Parts: sequence; C-alpha cells; structure tokens
Amino acid sequence: MKLTIPSTTTMHLVAFLCLFSIWLLSPSVNASWGDQHPVFQNYRRHCLNMNCSTDAKLTRFNTRQPLSMRLLGWDCSSECTYESMWHLTHKALEEVERVPQFYGKWPFVRFMGMQEPASCIFSILNGAVAVYMLSRFRRQVPSNAPMYEAWHGYFAVQINTWVWSTVFHFRDVTWTEKMDYISAFSLIVSGMLMFILRVFSMKGNTINMKVAVPTVTPIAMFFLSHAFYLGFTKFSYSYNLKVNLTFAIVSSVAWLLWSIIVRSRQPYVWKVALSILSGNLLTLLEVFDFPPVWWVFDAHSIWHGGTAPLAFVFYSFVIDDCLYLYEEYKKTPDYRRKGV
Ligand SMILES: [Zn+2]
Repeated sequence: MKLTIPSTTTMHLVAFLCLFSIWLLSPSVNASWGDQHPVFQNYRRHCLNMNCSTDAKLTRFNTRQPLSMRLLGWDCSSECTYESMWHLTHKALEEVERVPQFYGKWPFVRFMGMQEPASCIFSILNGAVAVYMLSRFRRQVPSNAPMYEAWHGYFAVQINTWVWSTVFHFRDVTWTEKMDYISAFSLIVSGMLMFILRVFSMKGNTINMKVAVPTVTPIAMFFLSHAFYLGFTKFSYSYNLKVNLTFAIVSSVAWLLWSIIVRSRQPYVWKVALSILSGNLLTLLEVFDFPPVWWVFDAHSIWHGGTAPLAFVFYSFVIDDCLYLYEEYKKTPDYRRKGV
C-alpha cells in the first residue's frame, strides 16, 4: 500500500506547527489551583491531624487500610490528599462549576490502587505492543540484517519507557515522576539517534563509527546531563517540556523529510510519515487539555491510548526498512565475501 503524500511542505508544516504551538503554550500546561486553595489545604490539615498525627492514630489508620493499598504506597498522608482533592472538587463543581487541578493534574477516580487508571492501562498496552512487535521483528528480520542490533536498543528504550510510565501513572510520587519524565525523554532522543544511525551511519550491514561516534556522542551526553539535572538538580516542568519538544521537532522533521525524499524507492516509508504526523497531532491534546471524562479519561490518557495503534505502524516500518536494507546488503560484495 502506498500513501499518497499530498504535499511535502504541508506535511512537515503541520507537524512543525503542532509541536511549535505546544512549545509556545507549554508554560501554562502545569498551572493548577486546587492544591493552593484554602478549602483543600484546611481539609487536608484537619484529615492529617485526625488520622496521622500520633502513633496511635497511625496504627488505627493502618488497621483500617487494606494491605494492598499500603503496599502500593497509599499511606495516611496520601489518603488525606486524595480525600481532600475530592472534597474541593465536589465543592468547586457546585459553587463555581469548574474542575480544579491538583499539583498539575486533574482529579481521577482511583481504581485498584491505580491513581490514573486509564493512563496506567494504556501505558501497559503501549508496552505490550512494543514487546509483541519486538518478537515479530525477531521472527521476520534476519539477525545479520543492517540495523538489527540498533533497533533492539530502540525497542529496549521503548519497553523501559512504558514500564516507567505504567509505574508513574499507577502511583505518582516524586521518584516515579522523575523516572517517567527521564525515560520519556530517552524515547524521544532514541528516535533522533536511530535517524542518525539509519540515514547517515550505515555501511554495509555495520554502523560506520567514524560518522556515528561524533554525531551520537554529543546527543547522548546531553541526554545524560539533562537526566542528571532533572533527577538531582532541579525538576523544571516547563524547561523539560521545551527540551523534549525541541528534540521532537528536529527528529520529526528529519524523519518526515527523509521519508519524502526516499518514498519512490522505498514506498513503505508512508508508515513512518503517518506515525510521526499522527503522533504529533495527538500531542496537541496536551494543549487542549480538558477535565477527565467520567473522572477517568483526560487528554493525556487519550494521548497514551492513541500512541498504541500508531506504534504498530511505526514498528511495521522498522521491519520493512530492515528487510529493505537486507535486500540491498545482499547485492553487495561484502555480503558475498562473508558468505552468509
Ligand atoms: Zn503519561
């Protein structure tokens, strides 16, 4: 199946505008007033005082709290936060008909200890797609095909990212949030690195280190320094978002441009163009944020839900591209010399 690309410039213009508009609007994304509201703060203070302020009260709380919830990190303080959140939410709906956000998030109904059930389940789904497509990749692509090992690294980054996304949406605490953000950035960076390796560094079925080392090393070093900054220096949402979007814009435009240039020789590249373009359009949901439908589905969770089918398309491109490179490699003297 061949995608008819309407216009080369339109495609990247759309992708660029989507991401650039998010880049511009990003400082307002994390604004929240619920946790600053006196009703929330007073209710929470009272709850903490009544349930968590002495050893005897904590013991009483622990005997009432199911063990499974305690193991999932729902301690006395976080239970008070959860109760206070709903107290203010109901009050705000009655009085001002607005849904408050708390610590940058909407209120969600907890399900089986999951703080954000939809995002959590969709993250598991994305991880499952990555595992399934990795097994398909290994079945369909010969192990001596170009980029075989490099894509394994990419799949590992993907699976790691979805593990941490699941953990974070299951329980949002400081360290799970940092791991989610850092691994999400690793996913974006790996997309850029794969582009460099695929387009500029392939020589036969091996990676040309003379090209790969000077291009990949500075990006990898930046990733490490950014991860260190987020983890140990300052966790800045707006700075992190801008860094992510800058990398995403560059990477998206690069993949799209390449797919347009090679599309007549490699018609399957419509898959990478479609997945990147649709992924960027889905990211717009983060700008047009809305309170969760049924207190379950917010824009972020729908974004996670939407990336799962797109991942099928992207990984399918990965398989097609490796098979294409393998066929090209088979025509080279290097292949015949190795007698594979
Ligand atoms: Zn998420």
